[in-house]
Amino acid sequence: MHRPIRGGRATPRADGSPFTERDSVPFRARGVAAAEQKCRRRLFRPSGIPSPTTPTRGAPAHGPELRRRGPARHGGRLATRRRLARRRSRLLDLKDLDWPPLVRRSDHLEIAGTCTVAQLRALEPDPDWASFALVEQCSRAFLASFKIWNEATVGGNLCNGLPAGPMISLTAALDGECLLQAAPGRGPGRTVPVAEFVTGNGLKQLEPGEVLRAVRIPHRALRRHSAFRQVSLTPHGRSAALLVGTVDPADGAFTLTVTASTPSPVQLRRPSVPSADALQTALADRLAPEDYFDDMHGHPRWRRHVTHLLAEQIRAELSGGTT
Ligand SMILES: Cc1cc2nc3c(=O)[nH]c(=O)nc-3n(C[C@H](O)[C@H](O)[C@H](O)COP(=O)(O)OP(=O)(O)OC[C@H]3O[C@@H](n4cnc5c(N)ncnc54)[C@H](O)[C@@H]3O)c2cc1C
Repeated sequence: MHRPIRGGRATPRADGSPFTERDSVPFRARGVAAAEQKCRRRLFRPSGIPSPTTPTRGAPAHGPELRRRGPARHGGRLATRRRLARRRSRLLDLKDLDWPPLVRRSDHLEIAGTCTVAQLRALEPDPDWASFALVEQCSRAFLASFKIWNEATVGGNLCNGLPAGPMISLTAALDGECLLQAAPGRGPGRTVPVAEFVTGNGLKQLEPGEVLRAVRIPHRALRRHSAFRQVSLTPHGRSAALLVGTVDPADGAFTLTVTASTPSPVQLRRPSVPSADALQTALADRLAPEDYFDDMHGHPRWRRHVTHLLAEQIRAELSGGTT
């Protein structure tokens, strides 16, 4: 007597054959069909996570859950497209604005946010711009420096807000001021000193829609005497500490700008070049051990050590001593 295959229904066929309806389906095919059905149940159950293979335009064969899910997912996609379109409408290609890269004003040099490092380096300085040497020194402080001079912009470097941003070091040390242009309809622009513009690792004072139009460097700062020191773990590596000292020949005022070893620029100002002890004490008072930046480019304790060392070298150089 015929025994139906395991799991088959023993319903006799209409033609009187001893085989059931199910027996006429090859066993392998039945296995696949069962697995598919089981799988569909799992994929389409309302609380389940939709599979990436889940079809969205539901055929009735996929069941009512799918038909409910279809329009919802479609709506989700439409919403995403609208969000992307809104974001795209806010995108601005600054290069299209054609800002002149460098403009000499009566009392300051205006560096456009879109000015490249190469354009700044190519500027012919006024004869009395003693501290313009810092442009060459700071641009060489880029990791793999010359490779990015033609593309990297001064504004981009400031807006990146990295501790080791050499254009931040340069413009902060020269008392640069950021000219920030608000988004259309959001009021007038504003100015912020570069040393305050960058507030931490990758952090800056930039409101949504605001752009860095330019950095203004006062002529007086360009006439200062300067001393530069930079150190990194590898010969052309990212700066672990970058210090700039300046002395104003007009009144002898001394400014030390510490960057790269701290998350954001730190400045010490004195009416004249301080003594070695006074500078070391001032540095220690201003920067606690935990204020130093910690990343793969240098341990904070080492950064603190080299910062104090380089500060003394700068002080000695600017006071006419040995370095
Ligand atoms: C080989 C290599 C070495 C590098 N070395 C260093 C390094 O040593 N130190 C360092 O700091 N960086 C480094 N960088 C990172 C980067 O290239 C530089 O910081 C560069 O100066 C960024 O300028 P960018 O014009 O490419 O800016 P982008 O990458 O175009 O912009 C950076 C950010 O700022 C915004 N932005 C740009 N301009 C403006 C503006 N005018 N107003 C508002 N927002 C703006 C952009 O939307 C973006 O969010 C390096 C990169 C490479 C590839």
